[in-house]
Amino acid sequence: MAQVMTDTWERRRVRTEVLRGRYPFAAEMLDLNAALLPVQEAAFLDAITAPPEPQRISAYVADQVVPGVIEVTMASGPERLQAAVAAEDLASGGRRLVRARCHGDWGYPRMTCTSCGEQSGSRLPVYSEVGTAAGERGGVVRGLGIPAETDALFPHTRIEACETCGRYLLNIDLAGDGQAVPLVDELSALPLDLYARDLGFTKITPNLMGF
Ligand SMILES: [Zn+2]
Repeated sequence: MAQVMTDTWERRRVRTEVLRGRYPFAAEMLDLNAALLPVQEAAFLDAITAPPEPQRISAYVADQVVPGVIEVTMASGPERLQAAVAAEDLASGGRRLVRARCHGDWGYPRMTCTSCGEQSGSRLPVYSEVGTAAGERGGVVRGLGIPAETDALFPHTRIEACETCGRYLLNIDLAGDGQAVPLVDELSALPLDLYARDLGFTKITPNLMGF
């Protein structure tokens, strides 16, 4: 079995090299493929060795496989693909939802309303405090920072709202604060809840404090 697996990946490596010589016009994509093969092989062997629970497959892939794919793509991919990956903000990691009561979590696509499934970016406003990376791209929550306006009170937390269903949630960015514990940080971000309420949005799932 292990030998068959090894052969599979070795054959793909050899074939990629052969075709790269035969079809120069496809060199960019074949080079990316060559770079991705070790990532794919490692993920395959890991999954065989310690299979994830069926209901956790998407989260497993988001955690264990996607980071390597992104890294290799950013290093070896065609420029347009690199730009697309960067624009999708994938490099900052996957988005995960945390269930309010049982605290289970699972992967969920970005830029999709978790309440109604809206995917149109123009209907999904994001509000972050001024001075934060997200705030530079979307709506800005002003006036919470103390003492200076640029010192965000919640630099790693943002409001992700949906104009279609009028709901919102708070996104805790673990890349922005590696010490953050989403369920706890979410409780502390009361000013952002009040801000979202003032805009007319209703939280998808209130936290344990009822906000
Ligand atoms: Zn919605």
